[in-house]
Amino acid sequence: MIKDNIDFVKNKVEKACLRASRNAEDVLLLAVTKTHQTSIVNEALANGITAFGENKVQEIELKMPEIERAGKAFHFIGHLQSNKINKLLRLKPDLIHSIDKYSTAEKIDIALQKMESIQDVLIEVNTSGEKSKNGVNPGKLNKLVEQIANLKHIRIKGLMTIGSLTENEEEVRRCFRELRSLFLAIKEQNINNIEMKYLSMGMSGDFEIAIEEGSNIVRVGSLIFGQRIYT
Ligand SMILES: *Cc1c(COP(=O)(O)O)cnc(C)c1O
Repeated sequence: MIKDNIDFVKNKVEKACLRASRNAEDVLLLAVTKTHQTSIVNEALANGITAFGENKVQEIELKMPEIERAGKAFHFIGHLQSNKINKLLRLKPDLIHSIDKYSTAEKIDIALQKMESIQDVLIEVNTSGEKSKNGVNPGKLNKLVEQIANLKHIRIKGLMTIGSLTENEEEVRRCFRELRSLFLAIKEQNINNIEMKYLSMGMSGDFEIAIEEGSNIVRVGSLIFGQRIYT
């Protein structure tokens, strides 16, 4: 049952916050609905979910009416293809988690300029070093942030990462620690147009570790909605 799963995850979030002497209200539980039917959105809304994560523009379009009717947020968490930028921006995501290239940011900025709109984004960092993962290399983050800070229609609000896909808890923790230390280093620089507010890290398998390491947005899919079936 989705309700039981949400209660289960919320309970774990609270316990992790307690261990880290943090406030559970400071952690956003982003429900990742990708590949699941639109009907689950209403079920999640009825059980206290306030924000939804999707990684495909076509899928958001299907779920958008329900989310919008409830006045709740949707976040884009996937890899953004150039030819989908306009479509995505028109849907007005509350946050885009996954900017990792200047060329993409520049295209978004141009589209936003035409729309006379501003978009909040996070920069995705590849903290695991796994080649299959998106995200900017930690060593190239500073330069990317400085470049994007000059774009007038994009506001950087924080960082996102996907932890290492391993059973080794220490390695997963190391990824999250690294993201937090990069976050704090950028924050200290007080760069114009940049607010280091959100640390998006932690998924079904590692959100408790992420919270212990400072995450304030956890992106949880399968633990709430069950295994995804890709067709
Ligand atoms: C699918 C996805 C998630 C959710 O993954 P689960 O392991 O099912 O919780 C989180 N973040 C991103 C970027 C994703 O693509």
